[in-house]
Amino acid sequence: MDAGESSRRPAGRRDAAPHPRLHPVPAVGVLALQGAVEPHLRMLERVGAATRAVRGPAELAGLDALVLPGGESTTMSHLLASSGLREPLGEFMAARPVLATCAGMILLAQRAEALPFPPYGLLDIDVARNAWGRQIFSFQEEIDWPLPRPTGEPGPAQLKAIFIRAPRVTRIGPDVEVLARFQGEPVALRQGRLLALSFHPELTADPRVHAWFLREFLADR
Ligand code: GLN
Repeated sequence: MDAGESSRRPAGRRDAAPHPRLHPVPAVGVLALQGAVEPHLRMLERVGAATRAVRGPAELAGLDALVLPGGESTTMSHLLASSGLREPLGEFMAARPVLATCAGMILLAQRAEALPFPPYGLLDIDVARNAWGRQIFSFQEEIDWPLPRPTGEPGPAQLKAIFIRAPRVTRIGPDVEVLARFQGEPVALRQGRLLALSFHPELTADPRVHAWFLREFLADR
């Protein structure tokens, strides 16, 4: 498989942790217009993906999946339009697995306020931006989400979740599955090939979200 281009990182560059090799190695892009791009690339490499930073339409070619990182969704929305990525990215995400975190979740939603361009509307939720932790903009919590370890064995019942001016989910459509909650409210959601989190798994040392995304969402490549 060709993950292509100079920004590709070799899938073999991983830490010494006993993560199983994935066959074939999935090629996963991270939208790299703005935001927490590098931590996603590192985490994906750690769990066995070949990665590519995506800054223009040509860099979508050949990817098996995409990550929409956290950052500032207003800025990303502007840059999606000016880079020419807006439409091709929408087509890609309508057909391939996507992991969206925080601002990424906002971009996938049906409704989100104060964006310069409408969100993609691929995920049947509405969000209120910056609605978690209005006083303390960022906080960490353990949430109940018993994800397996990258090896597939059962993992801890809890996951550390870092919230940074996170969106609050205000409406959920009938096809959306809630995977995890914080204070009773949904913070991890799935709709088909789309996995959306209001927190930042890439900023922790725990690779279980990324590993599970590759295993569970890219299984039928
Ligand atoms: N507050 C940001 C926004 O509305 C999202 C924050 C984040 O991605 N950590 O775009």
